[in-house]
Amino acid sequence: MKHCSFFEQVDKYVNDAAIHMNINEGILNQIKQNNAIVHLCFPIKKDNGEVEIIEAWRAQHSHHRSPCKGGIRFAPISDEDEVKALAALMSYKCAIVDVPFGGGKGAVKIDPKNYSESELQRIVRRLTFELYQKNFIGPGIDVPAPDYGTSSKEMAWIADTFHSLSNDLNSAASVTGKPVTQGGIRGRTEATGLGVAYALREFFKSENYLKNYKIKSGLKDKTIALQGFGNVGYYSALFLSKFGAKVVAISEFEGMISNPEGLDIEELKKYRDESGSLEGYKNGSFTSDRDGIFSFECDVLIPAALESQIHTENMKDIKAKVIAEAANGPVTYDASKWLFKNNVIIIPDVYLNAGGVTVSYFEWIKNLSHIRFGRMEYRHNQKNVQNVTNLLAQKSGIKLTEDEINNVYEEADEKNLVHSGLEETMIRSLHQIVELCESKDYEIDLRTAAFINAIEKIELSYVEGGIFP
Ligand code: NAD
Repeated sequence: MKHCSFFEQVDKYVNDAAIHMNINEGILNQIKQNNAIVHLCFPIKKDNGEVEIIEAWRAQHSHHRSPCKGGIRFAPISDEDEVKALAALMSYKCAIVDVPFGGGKGAVKIDPKNYSESELQRIVRRLTFELYQKNFIGPGIDVPAPDYGTSSKEMAWIADTFHSLSNDLNSAASVTGKPVTQGGIRGRTEATGLGVAYALREFFKSENYLKNYKIKSGLKDKTIALQGFGNVGYYSALFLSKFGAKVVAISEFEGMISNPEGLDIEELKKYRDESGSLEGYKNGSFTSDRDGIFSFECDVLIPAALESQIHTENMKDIKAKVIAEAANGPVTYDASKWLFKNNVIIIPDVYLNAGGVTVSYFEWIKNLSHIRFGRMEYRHNQKNVQNVTNLLAQKSGIKLTEDEINNVYEEADEKNLVHSGLEETMIRSLHQIVELCESKDYEIDLRTAAFINAIEKIELSYVEGGIFP
């Protein structure tokens, strides 16, 4: 069988969706194209005085909306095809959750574990300089965010470098996922994992859909096995267990830890942060067989590490009835098709991990408006609630306690507003996708429905906006 690259796989998903649509072929071809890509090679000086050449890419898949948006990853396996595929997924993802951006993605071909903090800073600052020189970064051009191997720390370096080069009043909006002190937004760090948890909680309410697969509704007590205990994996596990699911197994590079009664996620995270490994954690059994996660007995399998983890060679081992793609592209095209035929539900990446870009959108708006969400209305809302409760007390004699008043008045602080906007986005988009499957008598999978949803929205922006010139 011919090996199919990651970008070709994304293309195939688009073609599968287009079969169910009445779309102009020329517009479809334009939607599929990767509009621009830059390949960079630049030197950095290592701490020992040696000079090393660093290879990096930034792809802008679609300019139907501005700016382009997508993470920057640090991974030794990255290449141009991967960056193009991930940028394409970003275009479709933004459309699904109604975030008005085109898709972008960047990668630096390094393993960050092999570099000191100051070397990493030199890499990030030089990368930002190169992107700035080539007009590949800016609040209205292309806005990076954290991804695999990067975090708020690297985003702060990008923002600072961009600001010193551009002196732009809106320079904070040139990158999202920054620390809160540097123009970031409360709620961004956990956004992707929390979005996964909101989505799964809502999905398990879809009684009609679940009935087809003989799955009981409700997230409570559903057992979860998860690959990758990084940003997305940790927060997915944390919020899913808060919502009543049982996370029974987690794998990382060094192996897998499991507990049929459910793992204590915060305790486990603390343990791994301190010891550097899952091994030795007292409330679980450890095995060095990390890939045992794929055949682990559970209701939901969540790959939250990298692409192509579930493929034709291990797909038959999977026991879960639901695969929730928290990572990008964790199931290959051929495996995805086989799993659908064999009644395994896949909740696709292109929808499921969109929480990160959704909250990045909120951060970008905050940076452009130069004001924290909730600042203007905080006291005003508090006063309104107080007035209503005073009136109630006067007219009916019902006097609420302070605790009761506080329960009525949920603080309009930034984090609550961000979580609420994220929850609404994940729920609304899920309903659109599930309803599309239902309207096609469940003959298409959730991924095809998600791509139809995305392509329809992007197509509309070309049809109504015209093609320039
Ligand atoms: P991360 O670097 O914080 O975490 C990834 C974790 O996976 C690491 O701890 C790594 O050790 C582990 N891992 C790698 N290979 C593994 C393997 N074979 N077995 C077990 N564990 C393994 O990265 P992240 O930000 O959590 O991103 C994870 C995935 O989610 C990526 O596909 C990324 O593109 C996607 N994603 C991330 C975001 C975000 O906001 N960070 C948003 C959308 C999608």
